Amino acid sequence: MSKRMILLGPPGAGKGTQAVIMADNAGIAHVASGDLFRKHLGVGTELGLIAKGYMEKGDLVPDDLTVRMVLERIREDDASEGYVLDGFPRTVGQATALDQALLELGQSIDKAPLIEVGKQELIRRLSGRWVCRGCQAPYHEIFNPPRKVGICDKCSSDIYQREDDKPEVIAARLDTYEAQTIPLIEYYQSQGKLIRINGEQEVEAVTTDLGNAISFNGSFS
Ligand code: ADP
Ligand code: ADP
Ligand code: ZN
Repeated sequence: MSKRMILLGPPGAGKGTQAVIMADNAGIAHVASGDLFRKHLGVGTELGLIAKGYMEKGDLVPDDLTVRMVLERIREDDASEGYVLDGFPRTVGQATALDQALLELGQSIDKAPLIEVGKQELIRRLSGRWVCRGCQAPYHEIFNPPRKVGICDKCSSDIYQREDDKPEVIAARLDTYEAQTIPLIEYYQSQGKLIRINGEQEVEAVTTDLGNAISFNGSFS
């Protein structure tokens, strides 16, 4: 079974939705760079303030800051059994920095599933997304509503719409993905780690395909 994975895919593909399920099933950590930045923003750290300017425009936060933040996170105890990286790496520079750091630790990435979803569907998903203020679980007003209106099923915090899920910023983020993140597909393909997953299916069907691709089905066997 794969223990160190990178979930690739455009904004809105369902990376966060699937990463939470994969991490729970496999007993590994879910590490989402966007969630980490939003936590910094929430408590008002210097990194959060710097990241804010990029995030609200749909641009990427500079590689050096992002790489340092994620590498620190994957050294924490709960990531010692493995992790699903969600939203990182997003540039070839980040991917090479990650590979270099893992090499020094005697580790490597096992698999990099790519969740593929077309642009129109991405816009539908992002414009209807609501996120939990507490645990950052993603919901959708039509496709995946919480059981109680406005309240997270998992932690009962309130849910909100992200500032960068507005139409203008969605368009900018999709352009950023095409310009800076698409080259990563080739990067992981050439390492023999890329697995393409059809993301335009129900959440459960995507979970099943991902489970098969990384050779576990909700268990360690
Ligand atoms: P990402 O982390 O890739 O940006 P999310 O997991 O936050 O994506 O999902 C984006 C939006 O699409 C959320 O509102 C989520 O509830 C919804 N969503 C996720 N997977 C699916 C799916 N398979 N079908 C329909 N909607 C989905
Ligand atoms: P999405 O749901 O669109 O995949 P994320 O929550 O992963 O969005 O990211 C939100 C924002 O945080 C990005 O638009 C970007 O500004 C910043 N960000 C997240 N991850 C990275 C990264 N790996 N490199 C640079 N910036 C990042
Ligand atoms: Zn929650």
